[in-house]
This record gives sequence, structure tokens and C-alpha cells, in this order.
Amino acid sequence: MTEHYDLLILGGGSGGIATANRAALYGARCALIEKGALGGACVNVGCVPKKLLWNAAHLRHGAELATDYGFAPLLGDFDWAANKRARDTYIGRLNQRYATGLADNGVAVISGHGRFADPHTVEVEGKRYQADHIVLATGSRPIVPDVPGASLGITSDGFFALTERPRRAAVVGAGYIAVELACALRNLGSDVSLVMRGAHLLAAFDPMLREGLMEAMTHAGINLLAQRQVSGIRKAGTELTLLYEDGEALCGLDSVIWAVGRAPNGEGLDLDKAGITAGRGGIVETDSYQNTAVAGIYAIGDLTGRAALTPVAIAAGRRLADRLFGGQKDRHLNYDLIPTVVFSHPPIGSVGLSEPEARERHGNEAVRVYRTRFTPMSHAFSRYPQRTAMKLVTVGREERVVGLHIIGEAADEMLQGFAVAVKMGATKKDLDDTLAIHPTSAEEVVTMR
Ligand code: FAD
Ligand code: NDP
Repeated sequence: MTEHYDLLILGGGSGGIATANRAALYGARCALIEKGALGGACVNVGCVPKKLLWNAAHLRHGAELATDYGFAPLLGDFDWAANKRARDTYIGRLNQRYATGLADNGVAVISGHGRFADPHTVEVEGKRYQADHIVLATGSRPIVPDVPGASLGITSDGFFALTERPRRAAVVGAGYIAVELACALRNLGSDVSLVMRGAHLLAAFDPMLREGLMEAMTHAGINLLAQRQVSGIRKAGTELTLLYEDGEALCGLDSVIWAVGRAPNGEGLDLDKAGITAGRGGIVETDSYQNTAVAGIYAIGDLTGRAALTPVAIAAGRRLADRLFGGQKDRHLNYDLIPTVVFSHPPIGSVGLSEPEARERHGNEAVRVYRTRFTPMSHAFSRYPQRTAMKLVTVGREERVVGLHIIGEAADEMLQGFAVAVKMGATKKDLDDTLAIHPTSAEEVVTMR
């Protein structure tokens, strides 16, 4: 017999779990289908293990700084295997917490791979489930380039599974993941090359951030290799060689990490049986209410090809549940002004338009930019001080803040509060009228001239 629900969700990651829990609170009868571990990419192979490694690297940096403050050297070797065991234990606890939360809310969890049988029916391991509403939240997976020897490399998934620290690694890519993994590895003691096909890291970010990060990474000893098109990987004994199209090569590696983007998990859903045609690159397109082209079927999160961030997937899912089951007819996610942090060393925090984007959208005349660059006080005694840089992008006579970009210590924690102000339409004068908190780095945001 086919079981019937008010809401079926495919994918038990950030977006799917949030949708299920919110809908269940409204009294909807929900089932969530997950083929792997609850929590999805973020918990198992993304934000969480990444941030734990970032914390480890940050502690190392802090301990080095401590010697400049007069402490005896604090650090021994980094035990990667012990750190991995601790990460796995923590992630296991999170998996369990999600399972308990769903059970407490009365959400049925169905284990296995879900695929459409028709627009209202999903099949999992031969069993059929029907629902009035179906949400697709199947996320994305790492891309592996189609070059000879590609399988000799690993992706971020493989990186988090490593039980030993690579000694000499090449990270291919120039986006969030490439930068974060390269920085973490370098700070934990590996010899790291970052191989990018273009001239810059983080192409979509404000140039000040890109340039500041490239400087910091070079200073940290990361070998930044620009304008290299990778053509394959070769193995001899235990050593890997990364090959470039121009015939050059990078030898003596024990690890090559592909960080060249992620593809939506739309294949294997039998979307055609639901009447859905995948869009560019396999994404499932939606309107601003997360509706797909087929009534009663919705999509959220990475699968939709919009800002691939956990809070975005969560917010889209919760708002959808508010709309479908909470009586909030117009509730939907506005995708403008999404704050984001790159967990590099130092971290980057960014919200709104970059300077080039603002100039293109509003014209040169309308845009006024404020900048500052300084050494944070925590680095006052440092032999190798890290710098902090900030940029405020404003438009119009009232100087409305349309972009705020920070690279430097604590940028990750600084941005959230300022993102509220930017979202509320803060002007430069509002920032000027806000009293500074002294002595901090964040005060520079309200004292820029
Ligand atoms: P997911 O959380 O990936 O969930 C999708 C789930 O669907 C998975 O559990 C999968 O197993 C399941 N699934 C797929 N197909 C099926 C099927 N047919 N049947 C049943 N189940 C299926 N974002 C941030 O905001 N901050 C960060 O610091 C951050 N760091 C990241 C670091 C890395 C290395 C990576 C890879 C990503 C990071 N992200 C970060 C992005 C974030 O993880 C994703 O944007 C987020 O997980 C997307 O949520 P989702 O619900 O769309 O998909
Ligand atoms: P990104 O989209 O950030 O970057 C992909 C990178 O791969 C780009 O630099 C691109 O280069 C490069 N690239 C693509 N194809 C090739 C190729 N054939 N050879 C060499 N380089 C190539 O993807 P990521 O995989 O880093 O991350 C996926 C998403 O996950 C991010 O966009 C982000 O939304 C999310 N994420 C968020 C994090 C956070 O919030 N801190 C952390 C990690 C991930 P080019 O610039 O030249 O196009």
C-alpha cells in the first residue's frame, strides 16, 4: 500500500531538515527521505568539519602570537588522526541530535534513495510514498574534472576522510573550498600549492579581498600558481604529479585535491517522471517562492543553483513551510544581501555589492567608497603582523551602504551584526552616528573617513 503524507522531502540536509521541522510544527504530516547521514553536506563533509579544522589552524596561529606576548612556546605537533577522531565523534553527535529532533517533531525518516514514480509519488527501495507537496532538497556534490588520472585526486569529501595529514598537497581551484582547504592545510603544517586557472582567487569577491588574501596566503608560504590549466594526474610509486596543458608539471605530491565547484544532485531523481526538466548544469529552477514548473513540487538549497550556503537552504525551506502550512501566503526568501564568510586565514566577511558591481549597477558618479587598512592591536607585538582591510561601498546622496567587505582577524564574527544594519538600509551617516567600541577592530567600520 502507498503511504500518504502532507509533505515529502527528498534530502535530509540543511534545507530538508529545516523544512520538515518547521512544517511539522504547523501540524503537517511529514516524511523526510535521506540516503546518507542526516545533516547533509554541511554537517558531514562541509561547514562543520571545515570549521573544526579552521579552529585548529586558528589555535596554532594564536599560540604563535602568544610567544610574542611573552609566553614560552606552547605548541607540540598537530595530531591529525586524533583531530579526525574528535571530528567524527562530534559529527556523530550532531547526526543523532538531528534524528532526535525530527522524531520529537513527529517527522518520519525514510532511509534510502528517493526517485519520482509520478508527480505525486516517490519510490524508495521499492516502496511508494505519496504527498500533496514534495520538496526537493538533494543538494550538490563535488565536481571531478574529466582529465586522465583524475581519480588519483580527492575532493573535499575525501579530504575530510583523510586519517593522516598530507605532507605535500596541491589544491586545484580558486573558490571558497580551494581557499579554505589550502589555508587550513598550510596552517596545520603541510606544504601547499594552490593551482588556479585564472589570475585571481575568489573571482566574485571585491578586489580588495582577493588581493589581501593572495598577499596573506603568499606570506603564509602557500605556493599560488595562477593561470595553470590542469590536464591530468600521473602516479609513480607513491608520488603524484599534476600535469598542466602547457607541458609543465608539479611533482612530488602526496595529495591532489579537486576544488573546482559543485554540481546539483538532480540525476537519479527521475525528474522526467514528475514532468520537471533540469536547467543549466542540472539545477532545478524555481521561482522566488521555490515553486518548480510542476504544481506541488518545490526545490530549495544547492539543487536550485542559487547561493549555495547553509543558511540560504534553511531559510528558503522554513519560509516555504510557513507559506504552505503556516498560512503566510507571501512568505518567501529574498536572495539579496546574503552575508557570507570565507574561512581563510585571515577570514573574509562580505555582504552586498563589490565595488565593481556597484559601479556597474549604479554608475561611477553615484558610488562612494571608504577604505581602511591597519594592523589589529592583537598583532601589536607580532614579528609578522597580519593586516586587516575594510571597504564600505555606498550609493547616492544619502550614501546608503550597499556593500561591506572585511578581511582580517575576526572578520567572520564581525560581519553578522553589520549585515543587519546593511539589510535595514543603513547609510554612512548611521554608521558615523553609532558610537565605537574601543579598542576593537570592528570600531573601524563606524569610524571610516
Ligand atoms: P545538503 O545539505 O547537501 O543535503 C542534501 C541531502 O540530500 C544529502 O544528505 C544527500 O545525501 C541527500 N540526497 C541526495 N539525493 C538524494 C536522493 N535521491 N534520495 C535521498 N536523499 C538524497 N555553507 C555555509 O553556509 N557555510 C560554510 O562554512 C560552508 N562550508 C562548506 C564547506 C564545504 C567543504 C562544502 C562542500 C560546503 C560548504 N557549505 C557551507 C555549503 C553548504 O554545505 C551547502 O550549501 C548546504 O549543505 C546545502 O544544503 P542542501 O539542503 O541544499 O543540501
Ligand atoms: P566555487 O564556485 O566557490 O569555486 C569553484 C572554483 O573552481 C572557481 O574558482 C573556478 O575557477 C574553479 N574551476 C572550475 N572549473 C575548473 C577547472 N576545470 N579547472 C580549474 N579550476 C576550475 O566552488 P567551491 O567548490 O569552492 O564551493 C562550492 C560552493 O559551496 C561555494 O560556491 C559556496 O557557495 C559553498 N561554500 C561555502 C563556504 C562558506 O560559506 N564559507 C565554504 C565552502 C563552500 P574560476 O574562478 O576561474 O571560475
